[in-house]
Amino acid sequence: MNADTIFAVASGAGQAALAVMRVSGPASRGILASLCGRLPAPRRASFRRLRNVEGSELDQGVVVWLPGPGSYTGEDCAELYLHGGRAVITGVADALVALGARPAEAGEFTRRAFLNGRMDLTAAEAVHDLVAAETVAQRQQALRQLDGALGALYGGWAERLRLLLAQQEALIDFPDEDLPPEVEVQVMAELDGLECEVAAHLNDNRRGERLREGLVFAITGRPNVGKSSLINALAERDVAIVSAVPGTTRDALETRVVLGGVPVTLVDTAGLRDAMDEIEAEGVRRARARAAAADLVVMVEEAGDAAEQAGEPGYSPPPLAGGGWGEGVETGPMRPPPTPLPQGEGEIVLVPVANKIDLGGPVPASAIAVSALTGQGLPALRARLEAAARSLTESAGPPPLTQARHRAALQEAAARLAGARCADLPELRAEDLRLALRALGRITGNVGVEDILDTLFARFCIGK
Ligand code: GDP
Repeated sequence: MNADTIFAVASGAGQAALAVMRVSGPASRGILASLCGRLPAPRRASFRRLRNVEGSELDQGVVVWLPGPGSYTGEDCAELYLHGGRAVITGVADALVALGARPAEAGEFTRRAFLNGRMDLTAAEAVHDLVAAETVAQRQQALRQLDGALGALYGGWAERLRLLLAQQEALIDFPDEDLPPEVEVQVMAELDGLECEVAAHLNDNRRGERLREGLVFAITGRPNVGKSSLINALAERDVAIVSAVPGTTRDALETRVVLGGVPVTLVDTAGLRDAMDEIEAEGVRRARARAAAADLVVMVEEAGDAAEQAGEPGYSPPPLAGGGWGEGVETGPMRPPPTPLPQGEGEIVLVPVANKIDLGGPVPASAIAVSALTGQGLPALRARLEAAARSLTESAGPPPLTQARHRAALQEAAARLAGARCADLPELRAEDLRLALRALGRITGNVGVEDILDTLFARFCIGK
């Protein structure tokens, strides 16, 4: 338990009707009694006048006394629902300092909750994600993790590994005893099973991480096909500069939208064509990098353009996995791009779009026909993008991997399990199992995490 008593405003910055002040630590009881005159009943909202040690009234508000260990942090806590004025907050903060408390550091309440065994590290991380959640799907994922779904999954694997290690150690300690011969077979079978489950979890196309971080959709195509206009139409506001001069959108322009409950950054790329000048060349280079790292690429052509443009240097679809313009194009063969797009990790979804159908050109069968100008076809495009956003992030069954930190530890565990399977000596197998168990333990925070706690909780807001 911590000797310090900490406090922080847990509600947002800026003037508001109410401010929530929370206090945690051994002095909470005395501090609350001093502020309110007498200690309220535990876990009951009580209306009180708050006074400092000199007896000046600071505010009238609701206070709650939350004795440990059943509190958020596991320590004695208090919550004060104050009027949101600056003078009220500073007055109460000064009074708390005078009574021996100190301002909390970022994430310090949740860090204490973790250190006091109130939650494991995956749940603590979920608190951060829930505070940061911008969309329904992100909120649902964070709540599931806060509920302990991920902790239970990793804890379950750790439990099975512990059993496996015990069996393996028995094989080492009692080689000449009458251990049933099935023990070794069982160990290998369980090892195989665990390895498969961890591999399947790792090989999830980064669904959980994609949802947590948000997706990137790149809008590519030759200059003037209407990329900026389409982004504006999708974002329903004027974010990208629409210009009739080819090559005006030189740098990647980014717009955040929500599609299918998932935050998506739409990236408008400069025209992917042979550049005219150096600045444009840089724009093209960035655009290619963006498009390669994107989760989805919307490839825009002008309706009827493929036929008209045949033979001229210009944009054609990146040679990525999946269908796209190459298939079902009725209006003529497509040219190879000047340089191929580098392929990013995982699958990239390609969505071919034929814009400017109001001009009456023919549309390839594989493309979604739209007009950014009239709005025709935009609901279909939006629906297609929403479906893609959902299918890139949705996961049925066990909870998905949500963080790079977890992925690194799981990769380590998977490598150790593979090592254990191939180990020649029982002692070496046991050592690999121990290291796999350690890697799993670092995710939930059971072992050796002191070194990462500072970095991990520094990302939190003050008061969380
Ligand atoms: P970008 O270079 O690909 O980003 O293209 P812009 O969005 O800047 O559009 C280029 C030009 O095409 C502008 O003059 C737009 O007004 C026009 N434009 C965009 N979409 C449409 C459309 O659906 N129909 C018609 N007729 N013009 C369009």
